[in-house]
Amino acid sequence: MALGPTCPHCDTRVPFRRTQFGIGKAFACSDCGTRLAMSRWRGFLVTFPILTIYMLVRLRLSDGLPFWLWTAAMVTSVVVMAWLFMKPQPAESGACDAN
Ligand SMILES: [Zn+2]
Repeated sequence: MALGPTCPHCDTRVPFRRTQFGIGKAFACSDCGTRLAMSRWRGFLVTFPILTIYMLVRLRLSDGLPFWLWTAAMVTSVVVMAWLFMKPQPAESGACDAN
């Protein structure tokens, strides 16, 4: 089974950048043409814990890890977690953000 988000209709892999940019915007599946959208709420759930840990650790980052290294680790975590856990939904019902 392939990692990463796939179309709920045909299991075609969603382009990587769709998991990073334009979250909540509708787009068409490259294979079956189904209108899909990433859930903003899920994006929040994936990103928020990482950002919280990042901010907490940054406050006491006087010694230890260099700032740029910590920031790079945070950005990498967000990109990887978003790619792994973002799931596209049909856009017509996904247009409602309050799920
Ligand atoms: Zn599809």
